[in-house]
Amino acid sequence: MSATAKFPQNTLTFSHGVHPEEFKELSNQCKIQRMPFVDEYTLPLGQHIGAPSKALVVKGQKVKRGEKIADAAGFVSVALHSPVDGVVSEIGIFDTPKGDVLPGIKIKTDPYSTQRTVETPVDFESLDAKGFISAVQNAGIVGLGGAAFPSHVKFSIPEGKNCKYIMLNGCECEPFLTADHRTMVEYPEAIIDGILILNRFLKAEKAYIAIEANKPDAIEILSNLVAKNSFPIEVVPLKVKYPQGAEKMMISAILGKEVPSGKLPLDLEVLVCNVGTIKAISEYFRKGLPLIERIVTVTGTALKKPANVLVPIGTPMRAVIELCGGITDDAARILLGGPMMGAVQKSLDVPVVKGTSGILVLGQNEVRDFEEYSCIRCGRCVDACPLFLNPTMMGLLAKKGLWDEMLEYNVMDCFECASCSYVCPSGIPLVQSFRVAKGILREKAMREKLKST
Ligand code: SF4
Ligand code: SF4
Repeated sequence: MSATAKFPQNTLTFSHGVHPEEFKELSNQCKIQRMPFVDEYTLPLGQHIGAPSKALVVKGQKVKRGEKIADAAGFVSVALHSPVDGVVSEIGIFDTPKGDVLPGIKIKTDPYSTQRTVETPVDFESLDAKGFISAVQNAGIVGLGGAAFPSHVKFSIPEGKNCKYIMLNGCECEPFLTADHRTMVEYPEAIIDGILILNRFLKAEKAYIAIEANKPDAIEILSNLVAKNSFPIEVVPLKVKYPQGAEKMMISAILGKEVPSGKLPLDLEVLVCNVGTIKAISEYFRKGLPLIERIVTVTGTALKKPANVLVPIGTPMRAVIELCGGITDDAARILLGGPMMGAVQKSLDVPVVKGTSGILVLGQNEVRDFEEYSCIRCGRCVDACPLFLNPTMMGLLAKKGLWDEMLEYNVMDCFECASCSYVCPSGIPLVQSFRVAKGILREKAMREKLKST
């Protein structure tokens, strides 16, 4: 079945959500291509959620591709590795894609650096659960869906909790992005292998692979593969709807259960993992390859040659865009990630980091600088919110700076999917105001906690 074949019918889904134009055709048939090495790599120490890694190298030190150059600094932290053979040219403070500056390590590439060919598998069969968690942390693996949450923390099942289902997220519901799609089409064996390795330690009863129905080739390839396994893995086609790939929405669609406010998927005995992350697990244990590269969709109507690229972590974004032919004269905005949740990127002189799932170049037509009008109480945002929040009221309260009152409307549950902003005919920047409100409320809670200790 090709990617353009008829979508599977009667697919499952969640309530509410939106249907933005997909734009997947720009890159969903582009095979993953390898980014050639560049002269220098910049590796911020804080690429993941949690404590930044601790540098292990000094200026002038020679390093090998895959060598650990920074260690985890605590449990919620991961190691960092060199993507090339080279020399540490600088340890300093560098610009990051988030727009801030962070300590990091610069590596000048050895012109004779080669891609690793010697495979040194890690013997996971002899590891206990603790050893497995420590190995994943040491491999620098984080969630590759964009959040960059340390995977070993997610895989550490707390006392009293149980993982009954592993749920792989292959939805990739953000418009334009196709890296997960290509990963499923080109590395299906690694995905199944990663599930089986992970399940040696989690001992779940079953795994699901959730895929939006607009990826029929991935659905077919993985369905054929899972049929050969004794461990039950079910490929579940889901309706094409945003934000289908959000953890809570996926669980609702597949299990018909709602993750309650303030709770996590594990409270329903579910562990959710991105397909790229599970591939990274397989590659580490089978080949000894730590997380030194990731697949990035580089796309957009204002990019000359959209592509899916296997990029060494630390590569300058400018070089990746050049590999894809550069931007057109129509380019109006660059985003990191998809158009719904992606962040506007002001500089291309920042590196690709572990959380970079996409680089999106939008043209003038897709960039709408809305004039903001008053709320007309049309209720469209309420109909769109997948969490059944009340964006109308939260928007009105945010306008008045009534942050505490927003708590009563569960603003902290909002995961900033932007469905409400997308449908608002008055151009009200709802999600932006919820982001601000959550930041203020978090800071306030932290201050109050400090005061009481
Ligand atoms: S951004 Fe928040 S409030 Fe708006 S639709 Fe998404 S979850 Fe609901
Ligand atoms: S969609 Fe916009 S205009 Fe309509 S109720 Fe929500 S905030 Fe108001």
